[in-house]
Amino acid sequence: MIKHFSESNATQGISVYIHLPFCESLCTFCACHKRITKRHDVELPYIQAVLKEWELYRRLLAELPVIRELHLGGGTPTFFSPQHLQLLLEDIFATARVVPDAESSFEGHPNSTTQEHLEVLYNLGFRRVSFGLQDYDPKVQKAIHRLQPFERVAAATDQARSAGYKSVSHDLVFGLPFQTWESMQQTIAQTIQLKPDRIAFYSYAHVPWIKGVGQRGVKDEDLPAPALKRQLYEEGKKCWSCRVMWK
Ligand code: SF4
Repeated sequence: MIKHFSESNATQGISVYIHLPFCESLCTFCACHKRITKRHDVELPYIQAVLKEWELYRRLLAELPVIRELHLGGGTPTFFSPQHLQLLLEDIFATARVVPDAESSFEGHPNSTTQEHLEVLYNLGFRRVSFGLQDYDPKVQKAIHRLQPFERVAAATDQARSAGYKSVSHDLVFGLPFQTWESMQQTIAQTIQLKPDRIAFYSYAHVPWIKGVGQRGVKDEDLPAPALKRQLYEEGKKCWSCRVMWK
């Protein structure tokens, strides 16, 4: 790592990924590294631990890190208060150089992303946000334990745009329990209505023997059969073509 750092820091800069692992509730399809808790007193100790780790790296590195890309992922980064995110980032920025056109992005849960989150992160240089919406069908949302109405995603998208974000991404998942051809078309139609700048369309990986907690509650018979899953994928690809039309 140190060798690669010295080779690229001065010429290309570095990319920093910060994992913020807490979520208030478990989405049953999830394959991320996360901890489920409603206790927000975990925020500060976690941030202090990340800053301690950053300091260890800093001591090993001969030069001031030049940050070209920064991403906050999770878990749910917006589980953390805007003030705690600010504390984390300001401490990191105080011991690095952030290039003026750095690409900074974060994953925002539509249910927990507030105007204040968007503004605080915008003021720290963030211009990209991705919202995990997965699927709008209430039956699918109930099965994956992720209840977030279309109106909430629309409001979060509008707030991000008003705050000045230049890229708002929507993440969808195909292959989830109870998805049908019709429900996927409906989710796509609603996605098109909000005109995200980018769409990520992921395949649900059903691996309950690896991601036991949560996925074990998903019954095989509730999942779309392989032929239908393929159809859902094809339908999603069309969504991308629509996106080209609205630019
Ligand atoms: S999908 Fe996101 S919000 Fe849901 S449990 Fe996984 S990391 Fe947390």
